[in-house]
Amino acid sequence: MPFTSVAIVGAGLAGLACARTLAAHGVAARLFDKGRAPGGRLATRRIELDGRSFGFDHGAQYLTARGAVFASALDAAGAKPWIDETRRVGVPRMSAIPRALADGLDLATARHVAEIAGEPGAWRLRHLDAALVRPGRPVPPDAAVAEDGPFDAVVLAVPAPQAVPLLAGPATRLAEVIGAVRLAPCWTLMAAFPDRLPLPDTLRLTGGPIGWAARDSSKPGRDASAECWVVQAGPEWTREHLERPAAEVAALLLDALGKLAGGAVPAPLCAAAHRWRHALVETPLGAPCLWDPALRIGACGDWCIAPRAEAAADSGAALAAAMHAAP
Ligand SMILES: Cc1cc2nc3c(=O)[nH]c(=O)nc-3n(C[C@H](O)[C@H](O)[C@H](O)COP(=O)(O)OP(=O)(O)OC[C@H]3O[C@@H](n4cnc5c(N)ncnc54)[C@H](O)[C@@H]3O)c2cc1C
Repeated sequence: MPFTSVAIVGAGLAGLACARTLAAHGVAARLFDKGRAPGGRLATRRIELDGRSFGFDHGAQYLTARGAVFASALDAAGAKPWIDETRRVGVPRMSAIPRALADGLDLATARHVAEIAGEPGAWRLRHLDAALVRPGRPVPPDAAVAEDGPFDAVVLAVPAPQAVPLLAGPATRLAEVIGAVRLAPCWTLMAAFPDRLPLPDTLRLTGGPIGWAARDSSKPGRDASAECWVVQAGPEWTREHLERPAAEVAALLLDALGKLAGGAVPAPLCAAAHRWRHALVETPLGAPCLWDPALRIGACGDWCIAPRAEAAADSGAALAAAMHAAP
């Protein structure tokens, strides 16, 4: 392995798997993530209300392991079965899995990487306080930009559409290849109710606004006295309503959930909608990862392989292996 220092942008499952595999080969990697914690789409949102705290896994609902490597990573992270033995969740919340996988890694959170500068073998990352970067709004002109590096190599472990602008300067060809990848958006409702809804713990649906709904509080280790639901809109409905205000989307999805329950649901204690612009892979790259040995820039993520968390971890590990094999 010709590297001594690697920068990884993105500490979701792909970035974490890449860092852990590099570490196993004795290579130190520094992770940067714009989130306040690692995990990306393996996420948990807490809503505080009147002294109570309601938790919602508003990203990935459960994880399945087809391969032994991901299965043992889930075991090590304390994941437990939910619904059946094959579906696993983080305990006491989904975000516990990436937190466990990030243990011991060098991770900078709340840092938005805005630019890859420098040259092959001596890349530098320019990054700023993620709280200052808001979609559709200009970054304040006096925002302090920090620079880290030099790094021997850079890995982008971010959703494909977010990798493209970062690669446009240093790696135009990679940016072009990634441009063909497509991810579907997903509006997600989080709602807590005063009473139990007359619905099974999970529902998978087609043809209406809702694609998936689950009693999040039925997962192991959750507060069972709270009736917390996560409701995902289907991709067509989400696209149709993509730019609507979150409050309107929450009302529409609550209404749709009420119809499923055979009438109106009781007024929720709390309800909020989250828009995932890049949720599930529709058109994958069709290769485990991307690695340009001349530029020493790589990219990984679920979008390389399939719309599953395991694919993200597999892609990150595949990229680390490709880097390790590099001459
Ligand atoms: C609503 C929803 C439901 C899902 N349900 C399931 C399910 O039930 N089962 C399943 O297996 N999978 C599910 N998935 C998919 C699964 O969550 C993903 O496949 C997986 O988490 C992707 O991991 P990743 O590391 O490739 O990307 P991400 O998790 O998206 O990680 C990318 C990271 O990059 C960071 N980042 C992006 N840009 C920058 C930047 N410029 N600077 C710094 N950091 C940056 C982000 O903050 C993020 O942490 C679901 C996803 C969603 C959204």
